[in-house]
Amino acid sequence: MGSQREVVIIGGGIIGSFLGYQLTKRGRKVTIVEQTDLASGASGAAAGMLAADCEHFDHPELQTMARMSRDAFPAIIRELRQTSGIDAGLNEQGFLTPARDNREAEELQARILAGGTGEWWTPERLSTSEPALRHGLAGAIYRSEEIQVIPSKLTQALAYSAQAKGAVLLHQTEATSIQVQENQVQGVVTSRGFLPCDQIVLAGGWRMEQLLQPLGISLPLEPVKGEIVEVRSDTPLLRTTLYAKSIYIVPKPGNKLWIGATSFPGDSSNGVAAGSVTRLLSEAAEMIPEISNAHFVRAWSGHRPKSPDGLPYLGEFSDVRGLYAAAGHYRNGILLSAITARILSDEMDGIVTPGINLAPFRPDRFQNQLEGGLLR
Ligand SMILES: Cc1cc2nc3c(=O)[nH]c(=O)nc-3n(C[C@H](O)[C@H](O)[C@H](O)COP(=O)(O)OP(=O)(O)OC[C@H]3O[C@@H](n4cnc5c(N)ncnc54)[C@H](O)[C@@H]3O)c2cc1C
Repeated sequence: MGSQREVVIIGGGIIGSFLGYQLTKRGRKVTIVEQTDLASGASGAAAGMLAADCEHFDHPELQTMARMSRDAFPAIIRELRQTSGIDAGLNEQGFLTPARDNREAEELQARILAGGTGEWWTPERLSTSEPALRHGLAGAIYRSEEIQVIPSKLTQALAYSAQAKGAVLLHQTEATSIQVQENQVQGVVTSRGFLPCDQIVLAGGWRMEQLLQPLGISLPLEPVKGEIVEVRSDTPLLRTTLYAKSIYIVPKPGNKLWIGATSFPGDSSNGVAAGSVTRLLSEAAEMIPEISNAHFVRAWSGHRPKSPDGLPYLGEFSDVRGLYAAAGHYRNGILLSAITARILSDEMDGIVTPGINLAPFRPDRFQNQLEGGLLR
């Protein structure tokens, strides 16, 4: 420790790891500080869907960014496999949004007619392609561009590829405070010593507030707890990802299905409620009856980091030179990680990423309201 590092990234989730990889590729000296293990936060709990078209976005700019991000993944994942030897489990079979009855079928078809993405699959086409789906569905939208990954593997592949290219990876190391002098970042105090640096990126998920409080800066984030159940069947039950109204079923290697997810705003507790497991399993079995005969493997929970307006914080704080945020990606942090890494590394290099208006994502957008007491 102690040698001068250009950039310290706080957090070894998908956001910190992707940014670490991107910056290292650009020749920057990077240290990633992770208080426990890589992907131990939300990134290890996510379903790994890169669903730029199925997801609803609160801001049109975010939709554009989501598509740019999703489309960057296949090439990056191939590159990461070469550098790290880790397979991030890319599944390119597409996503289905099923209609349970004729009314839902009309709604979904109207979306396509209005210029939405995807093609309409009739009930016959649906049961030919996905025979384990229950009979009686009224069709589905199929979106071939949507993809999915195993997020913990992707995070590891990114962080270890960054390390292979020269980044320093500090596991079991907590960032405890940020040193600032004359409005310029000086370094990070960690549980293993002081790391001097010129630039710091806050990528620590939903708990960044306590690092910022001594600086008089606020980055409001709340945890939105989510739970997922994993089952394994003896034969494959699903090829495409099923993205329904209140549930998703994501096929993973080894005949596994990840069934998610619950959503509890403000809940920072750990563990999985028995009621959540029964709800997720019974809704999944309504879509794929054979799920009732599958083996229960495990269930887990994580906390989506959500800002008050649901948009991520991206970029440099206006009051402290060299202090950046890359946090608050709520339910789409895996999807948005590629574009986030691009935007942040561009900004840190003094470049404006073409085609993206970053104004809605500025990290100090709530600062004035806080000072006025609106958000307390
Ligand atoms: C159930 C569930 C399903 C989801 N499904 C999807 C999905 O399908 N697709 C999608 O795109 N998104 C999904 N998400 C959202 C996604 O998981 C998050 O948006 C994303 O993982 C956030 O990544 P992050 O790197 O910002 O945070 P995290 O993954 O939480 O990483 C932050 C890291 O920082 C570390 N850290 C915190 N404080 C410090 C400190 N002081 N010092 C050092 N290290 C620190 C933590 O240990 C942690 O490892 C899902 C989330 C949940 C909970």
